Parts: sequence; structure tokens; C-alpha cells
Amino acid sequence: MNASLLRYALLPLSLYSIMSFAHDDAAHQTSEPAFRQHQAHVHGVVTYNLAQDGDDFLVEISSPGHDVVGFEHPPTSKEEQTIYQQRMALLNAPDKILTLLPQAQCKIEHIDVNDTIANDDHDHDHDHDHDHDHDHDHDQNESHQHASVNVQYHYHCGNIAQLNTITSHWFEYFTTTQTLNINLLTDKVQTQLELSKPDQQIQW
Ligand SMILES: [Zn+2]
Repeated sequence: MNASLLRYALLPLSLYSIMSFAHDDAAHQTSEPAFRQHQAHVHGVVTYNLAQDGDDFLVEISSPGHDVVGFEHPPTSKEEQTIYQQRMALLNAPDKILTLLPQAQCKIEHIDVNDTIANDDHDHDHDHDHDHDHDHDHDQNESHQHASVNVQYHYHCGNIAQLNTITSHWFEYFTTTQTLNINLLTDKVQTQLELSKPDQQIQW
């Protein structure tokens, strides 16, 4: 079936205008600009944007809701509500998700976890689902509407020059994720990396 390919081809131009064109073959590309985000996501693929800003280190994680909780609709059953609360609590505990090299002396200063699972405002960053009535195609997911999770961790580091390794524990908790696409931007390095389950080490 070419339905899903066709669906990508029909994504509204407004989406492309704010992003790189090299989109639909992009999941495993390594030559794209950093910090591309909020496109129609692929279940099993999570994006990490990692950026140094002086003595600060910023982490943004963009994940399909499906990878975090297993569904992309507001939790209804008691079981779904429990899963939702547990997973969101986990994401609010950055020490469980990431281990920054201790010598860099990074301390978390700010945590922000947002999702479009619990509220009905699916994918509000690009509202093609609502604006384009021709978007009737259903893919193999349980719903034609996706919901995402966006996490931001802001660290301040005592010796950020030492920071060249981060251990990611994502795969331990979110077991349907197969790939982490990592965009890394520091004073010395700008690169893209890909971690495949069960690899944990982000090194540069
Ligand atoms: Zn989805």
C-alpha cells in the first residue's frame, strides 16, 4: 500500500515552509540542519535536541505520545490514567532519564513537560489535522490524530567543558522506542547522532 507515502506527499505546504524540505526520507538522515522538530512523528522514533549555551546545557526531547504512554488520546480508563500519571512523573525526574557526565557538574535548573495527549489539542504546533478537510487518510495507527510529548531540561554546569557523554535511559522505560535521533550543538561540535536500542551512550 502506498497510502502512507501518499499521505506524506500531501502534507500541507505550510508545514514545509517552516521546516527543511528533506522531510519524508528524513528519519535516518544525518545531514539535516539541527533542531528540526514537530513534524508528523513516527512511532518508535524519538528526537533529542541537545545544545550548549555558555555554561548551560539544554535538552529537548520530542516523542510520540504512543512511545511514552502507548496511546494518543486522553486517558479514559483507570489503567490509562495510571500509566499516564506514572510516565509523566517519570519525565519530570530528569535524573532517571539522563545521566550527564559527573565531571561536568551539571545541575538541573528547570523542567518543562508538555503533552497533547491529555488535552484534546492534538499537535497544535501544526494544525493540519484541523485545517485541512481533505486529510482523510488513516494510517496504520489507531487514530489519524497524533499526540506528542515535549520535554525540556535546562541544566547549569560547573565545568561544561568536561561534558562529552550523556547516558540516556529512555529505552529502559519507554520500551516501544527503537531509535533516538540526536541533534547536538556545542561550542565545539555540531552533529547528528543516532542511537538504536539498546545503546545508551551519547558521546561526542
Ligand atoms: Zn502518533
